[in-house]
Amino acid sequence: MYEGVNASDGIGIGVARVAVEPDLSFTPHPVEDAAAEKGRYEEARARFIEMTDKQIESMQARGLVAEAGIMGAHKEFAEDDGLIEQITADIDAGKCAEQAVKDAYDMYYDMFSAMEDELFRERAADIADVRTGLLAFLLGQELVDLSSLPENSIVVVSELTPSMTADIDKDNVAAIVTETGGRTSHAAIICRALEIPAVLSVEGATKNITAGALCIVDGGKGTVIVDPDTDTLSTYRERAKALAEEKAALEAFRGIPTKTADGIEKLLVANIGNPSDAAGALEHDCEGVGLFRSEFLFMDATELPSEEEQFAAYQKVALAMKDKPVIIRTLDVGGDKEIPYMDLPKEENPFLGYRAIRYCLNNPEEYKVQLRALLRASAYGDIKIMVPLVTCIDEIRKVKALVEECKKELDARGIAYNPNIEIGTMVETPAASLIADVLAAECDFFSIGTNDLIGYTMCADRGQDKVAYLYNPYQPAVLRSLQRIISEGNKAGIMVGMCGEAAADPLFIPVLIGFGLGEFSVSAPSILKARRIISLWTKEEADALVEKIMQYKTDAEVKAALQAAAK
Ligand code: PEP
Ligand code: MG
Repeated sequence: MYEGVNASDGIGIGVARVAVEPDLSFTPHPVEDAAAEKGRYEEARARFIEMTDKQIESMQARGLVAEAGIMGAHKEFAEDDGLIEQITADIDAGKCAEQAVKDAYDMYYDMFSAMEDELFRERAADIADVRTGLLAFLLGQELVDLSSLPENSIVVVSELTPSMTADIDKDNVAAIVTETGGRTSHAAIICRALEIPAVLSVEGATKNITAGALCIVDGGKGTVIVDPDTDTLSTYRERAKALAEEKAALEAFRGIPTKTADGIEKLLVANIGNPSDAAGALEHDCEGVGLFRSEFLFMDATELPSEEEQFAAYQKVALAMKDKPVIIRTLDVGGDKEIPYMDLPKEENPFLGYRAIRYCLNNPEEYKVQLRALLRASAYGDIKIMVPLVTCIDEIRKVKALVEECKKELDARGIAYNPNIEIGTMVETPAASLIADVLAAECDFFSIGTNDLIGYTMCADRGQDKVAYLYNPYQPAVLRSLQRIISEGNKAGIMVGMCGEAAADPLFIPVLIGFGLGEFSVSAPSILKARRIISLWTKEEADALVEKIMQYKTDAEVKAALQAAAK
């Protein structure tokens, strides 16, 4: 078995087609007629542009707008004035067209590969692609054509370039395996858009996987099994079939409102960690963002991100989501979330210690940087502020007072913000649950963080295997807590959502409908699945289920009842 980057989910079973790259080696030749040599270069460039135009057209015809955009950027590297000038000048100076093309594109490739920003680095692949195309045409070589493959092909290539994928007829390709590329590479973006399972960066794939070998590619796990035994093959065939059926059925839930079977509307939003996740969440048909874990911005940095940096990140999400709601959680540091440069003291009980809102309120000037950035972004969309690890009302009052100070500071600077920005509590501690009525009276919304709430309620560390048997939402103690939080929030007339993993648990969704939860915030790939389950239950059925399970005394009985009731 080979392992690589799990770039695009799904299982592909088929025969390996190892696409060998064209032989681009050449011996530089002396140039006697520079004009004729420039003519060869121009002809190769014209053929390359013609080929790219066809690919763009074919992508547009298949509705692959973003991918056609990538090819357009690709074309720009063939039409770039700087490159053309350098190549023609080199030919005038005596270089052959092949050498001039290679030198110029090598220089650009090196420049882009050395850039700090991963997205810019990934553009180096486009430059290599144009270089390959131009050289192949100059040398009279054929480019790898993935459009004429037999059915169920597992494409194995050293590097999957955008032009290779341009003509792919997705019905022919069961999966893709490459030797290069990360999750943000164009190859990964295109594979995901085409929904072709893909494992990237498998070392030595084109040498170790022989053409014609039967392969299983598990894009979700990032594994490639070559020549599987019959048991493995039939297990994967079953899994692939089940996945395909499930996925096809879920498409019926795209683009429709999220409603229970009796028409009660729910909000179905996504959990994200980075501004760039917003696009993926929208692709999965989210109705907004229910939890933006802002600490990822802090984790990815080497020092505290400035107001400008944070503003840019929050604004990006606000703009991407247009008028859809975006709940941004303020810095949740400590416990299981370490930010090394912040140098928080080591503690015996980090989950009960100096973390999240406790740290922020103790460092108000630092916290205000984030609050100002959030306020500024609120001028560009429906941004809401969520406070993590709340245990008493004082914390909410202090946050509100700081937000008011920040508003005055922005007024003084003449900067716009939403003066009515909503401030809500992440309900994830037993204390917050017990004073839900008090918090609801002074908050604009609740979002229940079951990941921590279960841990704190059951005194069971969410990462500790030995106590995992205690850590689940079916525990009667957890159920009572959730019922209380939701009913207190509803009584106060505020929105009550859930952003912990339990919101996406298919068994648990009817319980949450019965409790009266209004918003479900789940990971992007769970959105259609959650919409489907919500659509299957009426409030009356969910209420009956809740009444039944609230009488049970053990989590095992609750879970068994939910399994029996599952639709
Ligand atoms: C939670 O605690 O449920 C939650 C959603 O936040 P995190 O997992 O980031 O602690
Ligand atoms: Mg939490």
